Amino acid sequence: MTTDNATVSAQLASALDRIADPVSGEGLIASRRAGPPRFSDGVASVVLDVTGLSGNLRLMLETDIKAALGQVAGVEKVRVAMTAEKQNLRIIAIGSGKGGVGKSTLAANLAIALKKLGVKVGLVDADIYGPSQPRLMHVEGIKPRASESKKLEPVPTPYGVPLLSMGQLVKEGQAVAWRGPMASNAVGQLIDAEWGDIELIILDLPPGTGDIQLSMVQKHKPAGAVIISTPQDLSLMDATRAIDFLQHANVPLIGLVENMAGYACPHCGEISDPFGSGGAEAAAKAMELPFLGRIPLDIAIRKASDAGTPPAADDGDVDFAAIARKVKDWLGSN
Ligand code: ADP
Repeated sequence: MTTDNATVSAQLASALDRIADPVSGEGLIASRRAGPPRFSDGVASVVLDVTGLSGNLRLMLETDIKAALGQVAGVEKVRVAMTAEKQNLRIIAIGSGKGGVGKSTLAANLAIALKKLGVKVGLVDADIYGPSQPRLMHVEGIKPRASESKKLEPVPTPYGVPLLSMGQLVKEGQAVAWRGPMASNAVGQLIDAEWGDIELIILDLPPGTGDIQLSMVQKHKPAGAVIISTPQDLSLMDATRAIDFLQHANVPLIGLVENMAGYACPHCGEISDPFGSGGAEAAAKAMELPFLGRIPLDIAIRKASDAGTPPAADDGDVDFAAIARKVKDWLGSN
């Protein structure tokens, strides 16, 4: 009986995936329009995500599914449940060619600066190598709860930006050995959570441009991405690798942020630039990339980050606010 059910389920899945998604043209399962069908006591059940589809298309799909699945031997009835969600949730990924360049710092501060501009924004920390957002956002040690629908509930932070982090799900160091699909499924749990009225998620990617990062952006399809780099890395072309990677994954590039761009003297505030100034902006131009702004190397940024009080939350912030305005403009026109 179990084997029979398994055989029928497999036949149902392939019948369902032979129907094309009206938006992407891929099979309904491949496009994640439908989940794998379930089968029990002669009844085949399909959950269909009809987000963005007109009433006519919904009806056509339902009719096609019932006809196709009804032909599988053993099936007496086909049920189609329609759900519509994730309406306006867009994702902006923050990536870097390598670690330690300030990617997490940018993700946290950009989220806060966007919130100050009135965007309903949440933060997802997918950095499996060093999930630092719970510390940065001052909610270290707080675990998210699961709602009745078994979805995670983002943790509120003092900055009005709810957070879900890999660091809240797994023990330190545990996720490092994960491969791409496993890591991106875990990120799926963080994205497919009870975000309420949130319209934008800032996604802090793991550093680098390998298989894990690729799997995450392919699966979760960010609306756009911001790359952060230090002036030195730009000359080393780490950023170029990150840009190639995004192009390969078909993710639009919003622009480049230069971090640790000059040294802010803790005594007099004067900014000196040991690597020469304007290099990153020039390099961005040469690569035909929008340049979103630069953040100086400033001990106050590291101290504030360690203390869980991100500088963007401060009234005096101008650097992150300027970057956030450009990102908001990009969102408005894309
Ligand atoms: P990544 O996410 O790229 O690994 P982080 O954001 O964790 O990098 O930053 C690495 C370290 O550098 C952290 O200690 C952070 O506080 C510090 N840092 C980041 N940007 C700056 C900056 N502009 N000035 C001073 N310290 C910074």
